[in-house]
Amino acid sequence: MPILPTSSTPRILENQPLKPFTTFKIGGPARYFARIGTCQELLDALKFARSESLPVFVLGGGSNVLISDERLDALVLHPSNEGITLLHENAERIRVSIEAAETWDRFVACAVERNWWGVENLSHIPGQTGAALVQNIGAYGQQISDVLESAEVMDLATGERKIFQREELGLAYRRSIFNTTHKGRYFIARITLQLSREPRRNLSYSDVRLWFEKLGVREPSLDQIRQAIIAIRDRKFPFPREEKGGNAGSFFKNLIVNEKEYMDLEHRFQTHWNAEALDRLRMIRNKFSEPSGIKIPTAFLIEVCGLKGLRVGGAQVNEAQPLVILNQGGATARDVLTLARRIRQTIYAKMGLRVAIEPELVGFSPETLNEFLAFE
Ligand SMILES: Cc1cc2nc3c(=O)[nH]c(=O)nc-3n(C[C@H](O)[C@H](O)[C@H](O)COP(=O)(O)OP(=O)(O)OC[C@H]3O[C@@H](n4cnc5c(N)ncnc54)[C@H](O)[C@@H]3O)c2cc1C
Repeated sequence: MPILPTSSTPRILENQPLKPFTTFKIGGPARYFARIGTCQELLDALKFARSESLPVFVLGGGSNVLISDERLDALVLHPSNEGITLLHENAERIRVSIEAAETWDRFVACAVERNWWGVENLSHIPGQTGAALVQNIGAYGQQISDVLESAEVMDLATGERKIFQREELGLAYRRSIFNTTHKGRYFIARITLQLSREPRRNLSYSDVRLWFEKLGVREPSLDQIRQAIIAIRDRKFPFPREEKGGNAGSFFKNLIVNEKEYMDLEHRFQTHWNAEALDRLRMIRNKFSEPSGIKIPTAFLIEVCGLKGLRVGGAQVNEAQPLVILNQGGATARDVLTLARRIRQTIYAKMGLRVAIEPELVGFSPETLNEFLAFE
């Protein structure tokens, strides 16, 4: 079976504004832009990019990118192949194939409706299904890697089709080959998941456990879990909607520190902060010690540094979940980067920790990136 059905040449649009294609509602125009729904459309678009000596960039739902205010000198490929195909089912298992442009949360809703277990804790994560694999989306104790079987891709340099099995994809926390060793090399066309018909409740995450403890429900149904996840998420993460400005989810990554770095941090807390902040840090150490190190929530550091609610132009640190930067209306990419610089510099100066940015920064010159990202 071809990776995508073949059909006509893509319509290549010039100077297409990218703002509406991102959940941040930020970004300048793309020099060229094409919707890609078929194999032939992709091959033709790649030929066009080669003839113009332009790089290509795949933009899905735009929920994990910050695009520069300047024109993006590239051909943007926007997946548009949607659909869900049931490949196989028996009493225990489901194998299902999902096209790249299928909205991830629409697929989760479909799985929950059909009583397929395995992705319910990943409810309400915005974006397309192909992109979900790029950073191995995860939430509330589940990751897409837990249910992934394989991914069908096309090589953006050669146009060749390839199928990767799960173990070839370098899947780890927020990582895959698609955002590390093979970044920008492939167009993910569709993925295959294996889901379960047997209940596989994952209530390990404390917010979820407490939610059902309060309700006195010991064995929630799939739908109850999806609704709980949506309610818990909506309290902290504004799900991007047309009427409400924008955001790109967590703008900052959490930190993993080793024992020595933790002791340095505790020393700084003893010297510069009050007993309550120190107690909270020690609680974090007890709660988030993992084999790879101690996880320090960046939201906690932002709060302790008094940066919650900080605003630059139209960009503001979210009060309810300080990992999120909100576009309160009319924010530019420069506003967001200026705000991010203030936060990262303050945490670095006060705590000696270098916080990383989660969304991909697209279309910025090396000088701009250095201006905003270098630590002083
Ligand atoms: C409110 C909010 C909450 C969020 N919560 C979570 C969360 O809980 N957990 C989590 O892990 N993430 C979360 N995210 C981040 C984001 O939703 C996911 O990373 C999502 O999978 C991105 O999908 P997208 O289609 O928007 O990708 P885009 O932002 O369009 O692209 C992201 C990257 O993937 C590449 N890409 C996109 N499609 C393809 C393709 N078909 N082939 C090859 N490369 C491709 C792009 O080039 C880019 O590098 C959240 C974001 C928001 C705004």
